[in-house]
Amino acid sequence: MSLKLTSTKTNIYEILKSNYIILYFQVTLQTTGYNIGVRKTVDQKKLDAIYKPKNLTIATTVFAIGKYIRFLHDFLETAEKHFMVDFKVHYHIFTDKSHEVPSVNLAAGRKIFVHQVPKLNRWQDISASRMQMIQTIIEEQLHREADYIYCQDVDAKFHFRWGAESLDRLVGQIHPWYYDLSRDQFTYERRPESTAYIPPGEGDFYYIGAMFGGTVDEVYKLVKRCHENLEADKANGIEAVWQEESHLNWYLLYNKPSKILSPEYLWDDKRGKTNVQKVVRLSHVLKNYAEVREN
Ligand code: UDP
Ligand code: MN
Repeated sequence: MSLKLTSTKTNIYEILKSNYIILYFQVTLQTTGYNIGVRKTVDQKKLDAIYKPKNLTIATTVFAIGKYIRFLHDFLETAEKHFMVDFKVHYHIFTDKSHEVPSVNLAAGRKIFVHQVPKLNRWQDISASRMQMIQTIIEEQLHREADYIYCQDVDAKFHFRWGAESLDRLVGQIHPWYYDLSRDQFTYERRPESTAYIPPGEGDFYYIGAMFGGTVDEVYKLVKRCHENLEADKANGIEAVWQEESHLNWYLLYNKPSKILSPEYLWDDKRGKTNVQKVVRLSHVLKNYAEVREN
């Protein structure tokens, strides 16, 4: 890894100390007040040779509630082409419409588990309730059945290889709309009354709530703490500005991830074509918010 330090005003030292690995930034990254020129080419064949014999199971949680069931087919179909190919992948699908889960041809060793859940009314609650449901599924099932877990949004499609290079103890995903903004522009929770509060001047990156992961143990700690903090806020009559994403940002600031994925691991079709990175591996699809969110 080559990190070029051009400003001393930030947490960059901490980042270096904690052995962050930032995968695949193609250009100098202007974020949080410093420039990081990072380009670590990963030898994927070498990595495969390390990871494949471990016979790992990778769980991924995907929520498809209400009209979001429509995104599931493309998510699964493209994941079969690009996501952890040749690994055992367990898709854990949480939906209120079990009977509408599409049938998709899965490669050997890959499975779909469907979990019927009720539909909450507010989209904010649907999105935030994922923390609690992921906590529960880890307690009930995944701690025995999986090694790593990714928690992903369903309104996205894979376009290119997403492989073992992304695996690590605790993995955060840089938000594709914030990698080129300075820290004071990050939409962290700024009210001290919330447990997600981040004071001005603090923060490493702005992480997206639509993708995080790591070992099952580490992700368990994360979702449990975020769920507790969401509950504490609710009891105090406060909802963080971006719900569970705000709590995730708080958690990852004080519990540093061991790997950070560049926006090539979750781009946004709304941002259009990019020369920031060579490839887009996964991207949020365009959607009509007013129509799909139902409230
Ligand atoms: N979601 C859902 N049904 C809803 C709202 C949200 O299933 O009515 C889930 C779905 O997995 C979605 C995620 O919550 O990908 C986050 O919501 P959304 O994609 O609307 O948030 P955005 O990415 O637009 O911030
Ligand atoms: Mn989304």
